[in-house]
Amino acid sequence: MDALHWVAVIAVGAVVGSFLNVVIYRLPQRQSLIFPGSHCFSCGQRLTLPDLVPVLSYLALRGRCRHCGRRFSPRYALVETFTAGLAGLAVWNFGLNLYAVIVFVACAALVVALFVDLDHMIIPDEVPVVLIGLGLLVDLYRLASIGGTATLGYTEELGGRSYMMPLPVSLTGMLWGGGAFLIIGWVFERVLRRPALGLGDVKLAAGMGALLGPGYLFLSFFLLAIVSGAVISVLLMALRLKRREHAIPFGPMLAVAGMATLLWPDVIAPWLLHFYGG
Ligand SMILES: [Zn+2]
Repeated sequence: MDALHWVAVIAVGAVVGSFLNVVIYRLPQRQSLIFPGSHCFSCGQRLTLPDLVPVLSYLALRGRCRHCGRRFSPRYALVETFTAGLAGLAVWNFGLNLYAVIVFVACAALVVALFVDLDHMIIPDEVPVVLIGLGLLVDLYRLASIGGTATLGYTEELGGRSYMMPLPVSLTGMLWGGGAFLIIGWVFERVLRRPALGLGDVKLAAGMGALLGPGYLFLSFFLLAIVSGAVISVLLMALRLKRREHAIPFGPMLAVAGMATLLWPDVIAPWLLHFYGG
């Protein structure tokens, strides 16, 4: 790929990031994602095309509204830059193909889960729905490229052992992922004597299961999420940013673990299996 292709990939990522900002703001309030167009929250002026160029307009206007001078949150530019980076990484790791697009769309859905959970302590159902849809798409792709046996009764590997699964990867993974987090949530609740995982977390895990399948990739995601969740919770409590009885949203950890597992499946899974003894 030449430089022009990379510029195009990064630009598409940034534009998607700009749309994700709208989704993150409007989806929890059940507002239309399309109408009305973006406007300044302070003076109500419609933002026109030059104001909507991701990142660059933010830098050119030094993060202020062109009309009233009110400062925009730097998070808008951060989400755009981050999403552009995700697009670049997906293409860098997998090449410019359908699989990279699927990974990027899944990561974009996880960006929404990350920020909406930080803002509102909820994960919109649209996120797991998108992930499950992508999982089914990957199943169909396998069916088309390998044949029925691969999809309807396939061999999975966990810790160096292979075993047969009777259902499509996406459905088995969905049940496995949702079930695993339902049980973990129940155990945590008994041990910590307070709600630990929300139903939104369980649905997000089911969505990741549909995409990753029930094998070692899901195990990578699962361990990464649990370990980073525990480390971050302890750090936040140690720094006294959060108290023990305050709920810490688990969605952001799930989202970051999901993105890492999707983007670097060959790095994280073997690295974790090494400790797991696989
Ligand atoms: Zn304004």
